[in-house]
Amino acid sequence: MEAFDSFALTLPIMALTVSAVFLVLWRFGLKAALFWGLGFGCSGLGFLVSLPLGPADIMAMTGDALFAFAFFFYGQALLTHFDAQYPLGYRLALIGAYLAVDSYLVFGLADLRSELLLNDLVAALLLGLPLSAVVQQAHATADRLVVAAASLVVIETLTRVAAISYLVDGNDDIEAFGESVYAVVMQITSGCFGVLLAAAAFGSMVMRVMLNYRRAAEVDPLTGLYNRRGLEQALKPIQARDAWSGVIVVTDIDHFKQVNDRFGHAAGDRVIAAFALEIRTSIPAGAVAARLGGEEFVICIPGASLAEAGVLAHGVRLRFAGRDWRQFGIDRQITASFGVAKMQAENDTLQAAIDRADQCLYEAKGAGRNMVVVEGGVFETGETLIADLQAALSALKQADG
Ligand code: GH3
Ligand code: MG
Ligand code: MG
Repeated sequence: MEAFDSFALTLPIMALTVSAVFLVLWRFGLKAALFWGLGFGCSGLGFLVSLPLGPADIMAMTGDALFAFAFFFYGQALLTHFDAQYPLGYRLALIGAYLAVDSYLVFGLADLRSELLLNDLVAALLLGLPLSAVVQQAHATADRLVVAAASLVVIETLTRVAAISYLVDGNDDIEAFGESVYAVVMQITSGCFGVLLAAAAFGSMVMRVMLNYRRAAEVDPLTGLYNRRGLEQALKPIQARDAWSGVIVVTDIDHFKQVNDRFGHAAGDRVIAAFALEIRTSIPAGAVAARLGGEEFVICIPGASLAEAGVLAHGVRLRFAGRDWRQFGIDRQITASFGVAKMQAENDTLQAAIDRADQCLYEAKGAGRNMVVVEGGVFETGETLIADLQAALSALKQADG
């Protein structure tokens, strides 16, 4: 009996400790950790009131309510972690209906068998329904583990429903069933799955914290593009391929200092963010864009030719130059210049290619800005050709006149 008592106390202490750990993780800005913390907290208190501390029916009812909320919070934690939706109203209505029926079973009928059946069924639903909404979203290993652990808990809970309904009929003594080997095995299994769920949830939270820090270290907050470190990391798997080749485009907003000086730093920031968005929406899948600093960006397009990258750069240049900035309080045109260089896996490094693209960019700046210079010469587009033709035509007209 002594051993059993200390074991009975182990469960609430463990669950409450797990709860405290999650509440600490919550302080790191993880909302799901709050719900895991509340879930394990409710479980811990549920285990605590299952100890003979007061009137049996009140303790039973309190315990039932705590476990229902524990499963509700586990489900909410899953939804929050995976940023998924399952109607809150349904689940709250389920808890409300459950508490009403359960209190009738506990205080009115004193029907322990039905009470156990109902508890487990509702618990399985409160976790299973949100689980069904997140299964598709679990891609990372840590996320798959948490989905697997939650699935095991749901399956185990449903197994218990089946076991109680088949093994215990209305006339049997449910208390005797509770002391059977079968029931003890189920108790231990459920304890193990609870620990598994806690460990998996903890793993997925820690993974999320690490990803958040990594993101903060590799992504520029103003534009959402990579910074230099993020660019190097993102290019690693591409550069690991054998015969890798691609194009580097470096671009820089023209006379940006004037934009800042005339319209203010905040307006300048908006221009930088808008330019970044223009770049992001223009590059093909598989390309990587980064903000190298100030108003200078680099785009790496694996597999592209100089001509393809030149056309892309011209597209970005034209759309950017054609923008109306009046909504930002800027009443002038803003342009950008571009340098484009080829990068070959066998005889090139990222930095060497960026340096060559920078050299082209420098030439574009020197030649009057709002221009794309491609390694090996200025890249002509339909637009520049038309401008040339128009200039030639007006020269002819003037000569005529
Ligand atoms: P150029 O055509 O030769 O590129 O001229 P520029 O004025 O754009 O060149 P420069 O590189 O000298 O000026 C860049 C300016 O960008 C200077 C700096 O104050 C500003 N800047 C750098 N980072 C930021 C930022 O995050 N936000 C804003 N608003 N301005 C920035
Ligand atoms: Mg500039
Ligand atoms: Mg600059």
